[in-house]
Amino acid sequence: SDHQLVYPPHPDQMDWSTLYPAYVAKEEPQASEAAPSTTEETSTQEPSAPAQPKKLTQDVEVADIGCGFGGLLIALAPVMPQTLVLGLEIRVSVTQFVEDRIKVLRRQNSETQAYQNVSVLRANTMKFLPNFFRQGQLSKIFICFPDPHFKARKHKQRIVSTTLNSEYAYAKHPMFERVGVEEQEGDPCVGIMRGATEEGKKVERNKGEKFVALFRRLEDPVF
Ligand code: SAM
Repeated sequence: SDHQLVYPPHPDQMDWSTLYPAYVAKEEPQASEAAPSTTEETSTQEPSAPAQPKKLTQDVEVADIGCGFGGLLIALAPVMPQTLVLGLEIRVSVTQFVEDRIKVLRRQNSETQAYQNVSVLRANTMKFLPNFFRQGQLSKIFICFPDPHFKARKHKQRIVSTTLNSEYAYAKHPMFERVGVEEQEGDPCVGIMRGATEEGKKVERNKGEKFVALFRRLEDPVF
């Protein structure tokens, strides 16, 4: 169940610092910090406002929705080393597995700082995505091998639906156009997506077929 999941009330309140520690911005010294310190007992100041989360030097820009065991994240990390990539996964043990996988890779690559740009978060992506990301913040969203939920009564658990497309577009839609095959195949991320996810490998082993559908979000209409 996901009732223990915690969501920030607003993207500005999201604390990304533990997920991407290498990208935490140096804090500007606050005026109150620069002032001579007063001890708690003698201070007459009002209690300070709740602490703001530490800021990152850049935003998360790529999301892998239902990232499973993290194959795509790990493969994308060196391909887009300047970009922060986040996997979102609902299953506790799977999220933990990916977290551990990234931890080990970061440790093994501490000299180059590789894999600092990928992280994973336990979340139900059917809820509150706009609490994590500002409008237009994400430049790419991957949804690889989402559970199909064939039975009609389970359709509401599908992570691709008309309602959720609005969240992915974060606006009214139709907001997406299908990208042509040539451009699709020219994007290195597509090859990685096809081959690097755990489900993708499984389909390969079983000599099954894979179907890529790449969509570009359209500009907001100007009224
Ligand atoms: N994308 C991975 C891959 O290609 O190997 C995993 C695919 S697996 C078939 C679907 C994943 O989506 C599962 O790990 C499942 O736990 C996750 N999932 C399903 N509904 C979700 C939701 N509402 N929020 C986050 N993750 C979800």
